[in-house]
Formats: sequence, C-alpha cells, structure tokens
Amino acid sequence: MQEFDVIIIGAGPAGLRAAKVLAEGKAKVLCIDKKQEIGVPKRCGEGFGLSWMERLGLKPDNKWCLQSINGAALYAPSMKSVKIDFKKVSGYIIERRVFEKELAKEAASKGAMIRTKCHASDFERKGGKVIVSCAEQGENVKYATPLIIAADGTESLTARKLGFDTKIGLNDIDSGYQYEMANISFENPHFIHFFFGKEIAPRGYLWLFPKGKNCANVGIGIAGSEPKTAKEYLDKFVKAHPGLRNGSIIEVNAGTIPVGGFLDELAADNLLVVGDAAHQVNPIHGGGIGIAMEAATIASGIALKAIAEKNFGSKFLNQYTVQWYETRGNKLKRILKQRHMLEELNDNNFETLAKSISGSDIMLIAEGDLKSSAKMVIKKLVKHPKLAKVMLKYLK
Ligand SMILES: Cc1cc2nc3c(=O)[nH]c(=O)nc-3n(C[C@H](O)[C@H](O)[C@H](O)COP(=O)(O)OP(=O)(O)OC[C@H]3O[C@@H](n4cnc5c(N)ncnc54)[C@H](O)[C@@H]3O)c2cc1C
Repeated sequence: MQEFDVIIIGAGPAGLRAAKVLAEGKAKVLCIDKKQEIGVPKRCGEGFGLSWMERLGLKPDNKWCLQSINGAALYAPSMKSVKIDFKKVSGYIIERRVFEKELAKEAASKGAMIRTKCHASDFERKGGKVIVSCAEQGENVKYATPLIIAADGTESLTARKLGFDTKIGLNDIDSGYQYEMANISFENPHFIHFFFGKEIAPRGYLWLFPKGKNCANVGIGIAGSEPKTAKEYLDKFVKAHPGLRNGSIIEVNAGTIPVGGFLDELAADNLLVVGDAAHQVNPIHGGGIGIAMEAATIASGIALKAIAEKNFGSKFLNQYTVQWYETRGNKLKRILKQRHMLEELNDNNFETLAKSISGSDIMLIAEGDLKSSAKMVIKKLVKHPKLAKVMLKYLK
C-alpha cells in the first residue's frame, strides 16, 4: 500500500491549491478526484475578482481569463437598474476548465501526485493512519496517510465518513442552475449583470456573466428550501428576455452552493476540511473560488507544521480553524447577517432602492458593513416604517 504525508480528496480549486503548497513544502502529497477530467464539468458562473487573484499571488493569464470585467449592473424586477462602474478591470470571467488544469499542472510540477478517475469511497483509521479505499479506473486501490484534507465540495462524504458533522440547513444551501449560452445579446460585455426579485430568484439572484460579446453564463441560485426548482425560474427568465430567448444552450451546469452554516471547527484527528466541503463561501453572492483557495493555503501551512511535529491530533490541527476565522471566517459571518437583512426586503423595496441607491451604497452591503448598510436602507426606505422597524434590529 502506497503511503503519503497527506492525501487530498478532491482536485477543485481548494484541493489543487493545497497540493501545490504542500508539494512546495516538500511533503509527499497525493490529490485525487473522481472526475475523469480536472475542471469538467464546471459548476460555476466563472466570476473571479482581481483582488482575490492578487491575494492568492495569481497573475491573470490569457489562457484562462476570458473576459475582463470593470463593473456591475443590478436589476430590480421592473428591470430598473443600478450600475457600478469601477472604471478599471476589477475581475474576470474565467474558463474554469482551463484554470483548474493550470492549477493541476503547477501542483504536479512542484512534485504533487495527481490522480483523476479515482473515487475515494471509504476511510478507516488504523494505528494513527487513515486507510483510504478508492475505485481507480475500475480497480480497487488503498492508500495510507496520517492526514486527510477533505476538499471534496458540497457533497463531501470524506469528512462525514471520518466522523465529522458537516450537516447544513436547507436555508443555508442554494440550489444553482446555469446555461452557458451562445448567440445572445445583452447590454455591456464588461459588466456582470444581476437580477433580483421574489418572482425572478427567491432568496437569491439570477446572473449573466459575459464570456465575450454574444456568449454568457446565465445562471440562478435560489434557496434550497424553495418548492419550485432553480431550472423552472431560469427557463421562465430566459423565455421572457428578448436577448436570450433565441440563444443556444451550449452547456448545462447544476450544483449546490453552501451560503452559510459555517462550521465551528474545521479539523478533527487526521482531518482538515477546506473549501465548499467546509461551507467556505460568500453567503451573499455565493462566490467560493478565492475563499476556498485561501482556506487551503492556511490549512496547508498547518499541515506542514503537523508533518514536521508528527502531530495529527484535532487540537493541533484546529490551529487552522483559529487562523481561518481570523483571516476570513469572522468577516463571512458578518456578511451572513447582512444576507439575513436583505432577505427582509420585498420586491417593492427593491424597486424603491433601485431608484435611489448608489454604487457606493451597494459596495457598503457587499463589504459586510452591517450597521452602515442597515442605516442606509432605513434612510432610503424612510417611507416604509414597517421595514425601518425590522432594520433597527441590525443596528444593534
Ligand atoms: C452554479 C454555481 C455557480 C457558481 N459560480 C461561482 C462564481 O462565479 N465564482 C465563484 O468564485 N464561485 C462560484 N461558485 C462556487 C464555486 O464553484 C465553489 O465555491 C468552488 O468550486 C469551491 O471549490 P472546492 O475546491 O472547495 O470544491 P469543488 O470545486 O466542488 O471541488 C471538489 C472536487 O472534489 C471531487 N470529489 C468529490 N467527492 C470525491 C470523492 N469521494 N473522491 C474523489 N473526488 C471527489 C469533485 O469531483 C470535485 O472535483 C459557484 C457554484 C455553483 C454551484
């Protein structure tokens, strides 16, 4: 049985980042994915902020940066919009299939071992190690390691099979559905477009992320507890939108997005949990690529220390929990409260806001500044005393 210092389950952005950092730290690392091709199918709108790339030390590369973005347009149900123009490139719509393959090539070049079509199906703790049973290209294979990194996405079984509870409430999980569409028309290919309203996307939003002039990811995320499916809402929108209704669907993507339900602890004996598997996603917009890679970087730093000190106990590994909450988790918790505040708004409130809100007001909300944005909403919706009363609780 082959042994590794660390085995990473899942070769998405989190797993591949961990593979690279660990290999750079001279750890013997295996990263496996059940998919036969890295990055395919994508489950993603492919929006990636430039500030995230900078934070992660990634240079925008023409190989995977398809469309530069310099602003956003937010639409109320009547299609009245608020536009935020950053007047400079603030992010990209990427080709995630290519992006992930590049991450894999980089990790491999540093010495990480990557295996696709390798499904981890069972885990057994034995003599301080974990034995991982895999179905690899039709064969049953076992690998051993003292440390598992669960980077296996929202459906993560790894953590649960190792006795770690990753349950999440239905209201904290969004159901996502997306078409990559060609031969469509929309206003500005350098803007990302968001559509709001209870009839358009209840407790969520619908997006159009351009991939060139006539092509875009058109997708939706709604609360998992909604009785109607995300696809039904998306189809209704596409049919009603003259620029989309005659377009072609060249790819269908579906997936779930954890938009809350942060875990109190992110580690257990022999286990670190990262990315979507640990619900590390922005609770307002559902973006998780950057957050997953940042968490993987922090977790890998602790993993390298654990290897050096031969300490794979939960107390030692939970240094990752502390570091992650300090770096990102506490801010995401505030953004989650912000989401709860926005959920109090109805379609009429959205219309009123669309007429009076500014780009900088929206940035206030996106930054997670709960008190200031509650104040702003009260000010803008002063003629709605009932709502102002509700907002007051967010000022406390
Ligand atoms: C519809 C939709 C749109 C989104 N749009 C955006 C966006 O525009 N921007 C953004 O930043 N984020 C977006 N996200 C969120 C983003 O895709 C995730 O946050 C990100 O992929 C998390 O990375 P990860 O590595 O944690 O998990 P994943 O990317 O999900 O990777 C997990 C990997 O684990 C593998 N795996 C699972 N189980 C096993 C097993 N037992 N054995 C082996 N391998 C296994 C899977 O095959 C998968 O490759 C979107 C999500 C959805 C669903």
